[in-house]
Amino acid sequence: MTGRGEEWFSETLYGSFGQRFEVTNTLFRSSTEHQDLMIFETPFFGRVLALDGVIQTTERDEAAYHEMLSHVPIFAHGNVKDVLIIGGGDGGALREVLRHNDVERATMVEIDGSVVDLCREYLPMLSNGAFDDPRTELVITDGLKFVQQTDRRFDLIIIDSTDPGGPSLPLFSDEFYTHCRNILTGHGIFICQSGVSFVQADESRDTKRRLTEIFEDPALYLTQVPTYAFGFMTLGWGARSDMARTTGGENIRRRFDDANIETRYYTPDIHAACFSLPAFMNYK
Ligand code: SAM
Repeated sequence: MTGRGEEWFSETLYGSFGQRFEVTNTLFRSSTEHQDLMIFETPFFGRVLALDGVIQTTERDEAAYHEMLSHVPIFAHGNVKDVLIIGGGDGGALREVLRHNDVERATMVEIDGSVVDLCREYLPMLSNGAFDDPRTELVITDGLKFVQQTDRRFDLIIIDSTDPGGPSLPLFSDEFYTHCRNILTGHGIFICQSGVSFVQADESRDTKRRLTEIFEDPALYLTQVPTYAFGFMTLGWGARSDMARTTGGENIRRRFDDANIETRYYTPDIHAACFSLPAFMNYK
């Protein structure tokens, strides 16, 4: 245990600015085969996972990300049975997907098994038992390899990867998006994390370009995750038609009420509003 204010974690994502967190206890710190992994306790955000010096998820604000990654496409689609999650080793997205009783199978493809093992041990509240759900299939391999080789089809593909760099770089490519589109079912939806647009504009702009070139219905939508600092967190959406994305609010609300799940961030009203973007994000 460290005394108050003795140890701080400074995020290394940007050159001239950043965020830092007081560390009250370092639970784990080591390099895995793929990345530097740290799990530590903080007074306000609770337990925190960082990979290669970048905040991945915190106990206190993870719902704003994992709920919007999962419930927006699932309530918009209306009949998601087979889900593919690429990355997401902490288990938060898996937990939210499996709260939908109609989901029959959730396959998680995570390149670094240590992330799963260590998050199950030190951040169990994130997966909350999802890895033990009989509907879960965990595959430890590279996401690009998986989508190149699988002959399965998915109603929803969620890319919950680290930012482009290191092992996740292949997941930000035309080739990867094209393979994902080809393994979607007819009304399937592709969702990807695409950075904090105000400070990672290139990542959001590149995502929108790739989505536009590869999907008939490309879009970006927003959530607000305080520890994805310095602006809105951008999520990418790709589908073969705009049918799901334009699902009326009354349908969304009915599906939300029928699902009977309690959320900390997602609401049908937030769903209706999240595709509205500020002017600086109307990338041409
Ligand atoms: N919520 C975080 C964010 O928005 O940055 C992502 C959290 S999750 C821990 C990111 C996961 O992506 C990591 O566990 C990492 O190992 C995994 N990952 C990175 N590259 C990958 C790849 N090529 N295939 C599969 N998983 C990958």
